[in-house]
Amino acid sequence: AASIEISNVTKTYPPRGDSAGWKALDRATFSVSPGEFVCILGPSGCGKSTLLNILSGLDDQYEGLAAIHGRSVGQGAVRRPSVGPRTAYVFQEPRLMPWRTVRANIEFALAASNFKPSEWRGRIDNCLALVELSQFSEFYPLQLSGGMQQRAAIARAFSIEPDVLLMDEPFSALDELTARRLRQQLLTIWEKFRSTVLFVTHNAFEATFLSDRILMMTKGPGGKFCDEVELSDLS
Ligand code: ADP
Ligand code: ADP
Repeated sequence: AASIEISNVTKTYPPRGDSAGWKALDRATFSVSPGEFVCILGPSGCGKSTLLNILSGLDDQYEGLAAIHGRSVGQGAVRRPSVGPRTAYVFQEPRLMPWRTVRANIEFALAASNFKPSEWRGRIDNCLALVELSQFSEFYPLQLSGGMQQRAAIARAFSIEPDVLLMDEPFSALDELTARRLRQQLLTIWEKFRSTVLFVTHNAFEATFLSDRILMMTKGPGGKFCDEVELSDLS
């Protein structure tokens, strides 16, 4: 069975002011197998965030089928974190809570996924070590550099051992040297956890570095779609 299934997903944003409704996704269709690392490559504005928002349940208004491990998301589906697959989402900005330490940020995620407090310390220490932040667990996010904050967000995502990890341009706000280090680090961690990863980016170098399965999204009138592409098509 597929880990992620997207079938004929259409998303139309409602009209605003005098602008007509906007079809951000038009019958998008693809699926991802458990443990696969897939990149979605497309220009900005093509609907990448829209797709991840649907998969994460942040946006539950769409047509078609979006399912994780066979359970549909959004469209009124009841979300119960204690049962069923766990999904983590890493955004372009780290989105840590600034009033909590790095450790307390991760504890919050563990609690939200119903992990027992007795497991918290082990999970947090393990994940912070993987992103080389062991010395910084009691720091507040704003005491850390942008790259370190994003590593903390990645540690938080993996702490719940997600079945599915959604990543929306997580390295595009970082300088290229830091981004390179983090891409390599992400692959090393993914090899340990083997979560299904859906990674969206507008950076073709990044997509080809991270994965040999890249879905291309195009932008244009008449709607957008996902297509499988060969690497040779990208240049
Ligand atoms: P990407 O992540 O690929 O940059 P998005 O999914 O953010 O693209 O946006 C896709 C298209 O939908 C864009 O043209 C954007 O302007 C439009 N859009 C995104 N969010 C909204 C919204 N809340 N209301 C109306 N249009 C939106
Ligand atoms: P990154 O490239 O990971 O974003 P920086 O280049 O900003 O990190 O910082 C390099 C190193 O400097 C960090 O790995 C860390 O050891 C140290 N460092 C950065 N900020 C702090 C801080 N607020 N307190 C202590 N050490 C820090």
